[in-house]
Amino acid sequence: MSTLHPDHITTVVLLASPNTYRSLPFVAAAEKLGLKIQWGVDLPTPLADEWNIALPLDFRNSEKAVRTLTEFAEHQPVDAVIALDDIATVIAAKTAARLGLAHNSPSSALATRDKLIMRERLRAGGVACPGFVAYPMDLDPNYIAVQIRYPCVLKPLLLNGSRGVIRANNQVEFKQAWRRVCSVLRHSVGKHILVEDYIPGQEVAVEALIAQNELHVLAIFDKPDPLEGPFFEETIYVTPSRLSTDKQDAVITTTRESSRALGLHFGPVHAELRLDETSVWPIEVAGRSIGGLCSRTLRFKSGVSLEELILRQATGLDIGSLEAERGSRGVMMIPIPARGLLRSVTGVNAAEELDGIKSVEITAKTNYPLLPLPEGEGYLGFIFALGDDPEKVEAALRRAHSLLSFEIEPDIPLEPVQ
Ligand code: ADP
Repeated sequence: MSTLHPDHITTVVLLASPNTYRSLPFVAAAEKLGLKIQWGVDLPTPLADEWNIALPLDFRNSEKAVRTLTEFAEHQPVDAVIALDDIATVIAAKTAARLGLAHNSPSSALATRDKLIMRERLRAGGVACPGFVAYPMDLDPNYIAVQIRYPCVLKPLLLNGSRGVIRANNQVEFKQAWRRVCSVLRHSVGKHILVEDYIPGQEVAVEALIAQNELHVLAIFDKPDPLEGPFFEETIYVTPSRLSTDKQDAVITTTRESSRALGLHFGPVHAELRLDETSVWPIEVAGRSIGGLCSRTLRFKSGVSLEELILRQATGLDIGSLEAERGSRGVMMIPIPARGLLRSVTGVNAAEELDGIKSVEITAKTNYPLLPLPEGEGYLGFIFALGDDPEKVEAALRRAHSLLSFEIEPDIPLEPVQ
């Protein structure tokens, strides 16, 4: 690092979407460490002026965003650039590369961002990989439907949170799913649809940190609800995993090999993997930390949060021990059950009083529209639980969810899909 002025306050640029769930824990961690945060937010300039955001960026125009950030860094030294959500990971990597800051390379960031490049790199790296082909969305689905294997999964290349991800078991379902994904793409980004073989089996998530070129697993989360489609909404995550030690080792090995295949060598990794009788299959490996408010389920004996760990590493501070606190923790991401206006939520207090429930946070706003998967994104909120073992934690989450009631006033249905 260059010699800094004695008054220099370590400054971290955090790139965030306006609707990110992740800003508050980073603010708390930065305050604790005495770091200055400079927010780079995906906002048009007039709105940014109103909200007092000094660094408005257009995440869809990554070259311009990188230019704005590097120009900013000419006037105010920047010590780290971190993307909070998938959408800005390439911008963060390119900016860090231009400023000479520690980060994953732009090419590895792109490989985690684009699902087709990810599959190509994973296959080239010798990691278990389903058959996959990407098709332009203006191709005739009748032509594709007769060529592919079933069951399959269709997905946009550049979205996340399972948005636009649909399973199809036969040609009829494929054609319906195709039109639905096209409609999602028309309202978002990208012009291609990835079609993959469906991988059966149990799904887990791995949270890890790569430091000194070594991948350290922070937690393996079981996902006890079956994720069999046609849509793939996240619900319960519980750690530690109840998989056998052998299976956990295989999950860790595949996460390590996948990260290597994608060229990730620094910072947080969040991976989703499936296990069938023969293999561990990476579904997705991202160079960022766990989404939503779920990072609260990670507790280290050192007392630091995941966000503090990330900020410490990015600014060259000691990261200390990564040993997890004892006990089991879990979160339920409360899925959006129907399209409409959220009118009211009841049962939160009763759910919070349950044994093992730490808190219930409803993040959806009343009187605002809700859109479920596969077109929508986000959750109604999060339920957090802790206990002695994963069974109790899972049971507490299910009980708490059963006590919540959401009044959703139906609104006009989506245009019918032919
Ligand atoms: P996103 O980045 O939008 O979350 P993913 O590729 O991670 O998209 O897919 C979301 C979910 O869909 C996965 O967590 C998994 O449950 C399911 N899924 C995706 N691809 C496959 C596949 N090939 N086989 C089985 N399930 C899949």
